[in-house]
Amino acid sequence: MVDLDLIPPVWKVKLPGHWPTQLQRMSYTQLIGIEGCARKWSLQHSQYPDIWDSRNYPDKPNIGLLRGRVIHGALEILVKAFVSGNVSTIPSEAATSVIRELGGFRHLVQTCLERELASISDNPRISGVILSLKARLEQDRGNMLEDLKRLIRRIPSDRLGTGATWEPVESEDEGRAPLRYGIHSEVALSPPGMGWIGYADLMYLDEDSCEIRDFKTGGRNDGYSEQLQVYAVLWCLDTELNPDGRHPDRLVISYPDGEVEVECLSASEITEMASDLDIRVTSARESLTISPPTAKPSWEQCQWCSVKQLCDEYWLPATQSAITSQKTPANDYLDAQLHLDNRLGPKSFSATVISGIGLNPGINLTVSDQGQDPHLAAGRTIRVLNAKIEKPEQEESDDNRFRIILDGSSERFFLETT
Ligand code: SF4
Repeated sequence: MVDLDLIPPVWKVKLPGHWPTQLQRMSYTQLIGIEGCARKWSLQHSQYPDIWDSRNYPDKPNIGLLRGRVIHGALEILVKAFVSGNVSTIPSEAATSVIRELGGFRHLVQTCLERELASISDNPRISGVILSLKARLEQDRGNMLEDLKRLIRRIPSDRLGTGATWEPVESEDEGRAPLRYGIHSEVALSPPGMGWIGYADLMYLDEDSCEIRDFKTGGRNDGYSEQLQVYAVLWCLDTELNPDGRHPDRLVISYPDGEVEVECLSASEITEMASDLDIRVTSARESLTISPPTAKPSWEQCQWCSVKQLCDEYWLPATQSAITSQKTPANDYLDAQLHLDNRLGPKSFSATVISGIGLNPGINLTVSDQGQDPHLAAGRTIRVLNAKIEKPEQEESDDNRFRIILDGSSERFFLETT
């Protein structure tokens, strides 16, 4: 059997030595993450010095996430360039000139794409797939370019005709000062003493109007409305940026294919939401003091969980059975914990199911490893993610004919037990 010491640490199931219990400032995304499953949040935000020097567990970024970051990064650079270039309308000669100085849209997207790829280049979890990720992103470059242009067109530059000008916001902590009239990008909203931070993508302020706008590159999601309303609360209570306590009169989510107006909250609703957030944050912080934090398995939470290989609750047969009944849509990909019994050939093993989505514990099946991972060996117990299942062709066939295929998108994690 292959010595477990020879297996790269990233592919071993090993829990962190310490669970993070402190969170200096809460963001909306963090709150939703902790409320959804505190175990997931803690596993993601623990340190794993055996694996790498980063402060988090290595993520497995998907294409949607990466393309979102590329577009968002390009948008941020453009808005900042418009700010410093005093662009007052879009489209305009001045706007075109700023875009030209940045090398054009295509160059900007390419720069941001390379920056994103560089930021994940030391991630040991994706070293085997980074080239295919890069190829898929490059293939999608034209679509990203179009989405970026559509989002740029959603910047409310027409409102600059009121006499407001582009204004850079002060830095997050130093020299925070009342927001001036104009359009501001990446506004850090952080009411003193509240322990919160929220970054509004764009804020527009003049004598009569106050607008908060967020840019989204993925599909529409009702949760974004609450996020924007939380930003409204933070803005209202941020006495440094907003000493007059002005309320937003417009909340907008910009998607490449349209906009969604979010209901503005009344003064009493702002107060109510602030107090509700306070209660939720206290509860979320308390949930992190339990060691280990509670796991809340469900299909909704676990399907995209990037640390499920470390979560023992997820692999309990009862959990897998419950998740099987919740799984939508049904497809041919699954997660499973397996004991490799015997090698059948250079690429295949016979294995026993310990637990798995749609699989009864104890059944025997064949594991076919297209990547011929040298660390797979008879006697090992592994957790496989996103493996393809081939079912027996005839219903009456023996379960023994189930075949699990490990392809380029599958991951295998090794348990210490033999
Ligand atoms: S697998 Fe599910 S229960 Fe476990 S940490 Fe992830 S989301 Fe939570």
